[in-house]
Amino acid sequence: MALQKHRGSKTRKGKRRTHYKAIAPKIVECPNCKAPKLPHKACKSCGYYSGRAAIQVES
Ligand SMILES: [Zn+2]
Repeated sequence: MALQKHRGSKTRKGKRRTHYKAIAPKIVECPNCKAPKLPHKACKSCGYYSGRAAIQVES
């Protein structure tokens, strides 16, 4: 197994981790019921996706 020759510095670790950040989930409005929903997912409140009922939503 590969073994590192030198320990990395705290600065390098911090610089590497500047790219780590949580991305806020995108929210779009359902064209059928106007409820907020995730893009490319069926609406949780009306079950519609792409203009038709894609999933069964219990009322
Ligand atoms: Zn909807």
